[in-house]
Amino acid sequence: MLANAKSCALALGMGGVLTIDLAAIAANYRRIQAQAPTAKVAAVVKADAYGLGVEPVSHILYDVGCRLFFVAHASEALALRPHLPPAADIFVLNGLLPGAEAACADADIIPVLNAPDQIERWAAEGVARGRKLPAVLQFDTGMSRLGLSPAEAGGLDPDDLKARFDVRFLMSHLACADEPANPANDRQRDIMHDIAVRFGNIPVSFANSGGAFMGPAYQTSIIRPGIALYGGAPHVGLANPMAPVVRLDVAVIQTRSVPAGTQIGYGGTFTATQEMRLATIAAGYADGLPRGLSNRGAAWLDGVRLPIVGRVSMDSIIIDISALPADALAPGDLVELIGPHQSIDAIAADAGTISYEILTALGRRYYRDYLRAS
Ligand SMILES: *Cc1c(COP(=O)(O)O)cnc(C)c1O
Repeated sequence: MLANAKSCALALGMGGVLTIDLAAIAANYRRIQAQAPTAKVAAVVKADAYGLGVEPVSHILYDVGCRLFFVAHASEALALRPHLPPAADIFVLNGLLPGAEAACADADIIPVLNAPDQIERWAAEGVARGRKLPAVLQFDTGMSRLGLSPAEAGGLDPDDLKARFDVRFLMSHLACADEPANPANDRQRDIMHDIAVRFGNIPVSFANSGGAFMGPAYQTSIIRPGIALYGGAPHVGLANPMAPVVRLDVAVIQTRSVPAGTQIGYGGTFTATQEMRLATIAAGYADGLPRGLSNRGAAWLDGVRLPIVGRVSMDSIIIDISALPADALAPGDLVELIGPHQSIDAIAADAGTISYEILTALGRRYYRDYLRAS
C-alpha cells in the first residue's frame, strides 16, 4: 500500500505520504458508540475534520450511522452541506455571526445559539420566513468561551424559546475533559444538569472525546467526539483505546557525512560532537512539523529512532542517521514521522503541543492516501 503511494507521491513531486485510515475512523466511531450505547454519537468535523479531509471523513461517518455533524464556522457548514444527504444535520459551534442568518436558513444549517443577540437574530429570521427554525442552545457552565452565561440562562423562559424555535438540544462543553479526575468536570456537569431540569424534556449534548470516556454520568443523549475519532487519546497520559488513523512518511532528499565540529541547520544550534551521518527530509514547519521539534523530536526507520538535529526549517528537516547501516537510506526512501513507532500524541509531546494542533496543521503538500475498508 505504502509502496504504491510512495511512487505516486514521488511522481507528483511531493515529499511525503499522509495515509488516512477511514476504516479506523469507522472503528473508532463504533468503539465510542459501544461504550455509550444509549447515546447518539455525533461527529465533530471542524477544521477539515481535524485536517484529515472533511468530505471523505464525513462520508465514512455517515455510512456507519452518524447523522449529527458539528463544524466551527458557518462557512464550513455551507461547504459541507452539499456533500451530505438531507438526513444529516450540520451544526455550527461558533454560532451565528451577524449577517450569516439568511445563508444558514437557506442551506438548512443549524446554529448553536451562544448569546442573546444570536437568539434574537435567528428568531427574527424565522419570523421573516414564517416558520420555526431549528436551533441548539449552548450554556457556559465554566469555560467562559461560548454560550449563555448563568445570568442570561436564568433570564430565559423555556416555554417562550420552545415557541420561537425548534430546539433540537441543549449543550455545553467541558474545559478539562482530558483530565478525568479534575473536579471542574463534576462542577460543570452539575450546572448543566440543573439547566436541563429547568428546560425539561429536551436532549442534552455535553461530552466531547474526553467526556465520552468518563462514564454514564457524562454520557447524555448526544456525545460530540472529535479527536478520539481521529485516533487521539481522549485522556492525556492514560492508555489510548482508539485505533490510530494517521500515518506520515517523509522522503529523504539527500544524505551526507559531517566531521565533528560541524554546525547543523539555521542558527547553528547543533554542533556535531563526532563524525555523523545526516539525512535531509522533505517536510518542515510549513508541512505541520512544528519548529518546537528542533533538536527534540525524531523520525523513525524500522524501529530505530533518528533524532532531529538543528532547527526545523520551513520545508525540510535534518535527522541523524548514524545509528543505521551505511546504505540504509537513499534519496526517495521514506522515514516515519507518525505511525506505529510515534503516535500523534507522542510527536505532539515532543513539540510541546497537543495532537489536535499536529493534525490540523498537516497541510496540503503531502500525497494523501485514503484507506477504505480492508
Ligand atoms: C472541538 C469541540 C469538540 C470536540 O472535542 P474533542 O476534544 O476533539 O473531542 C466538541 N465540542 C465543542 C464545543 C468543540 O469545540
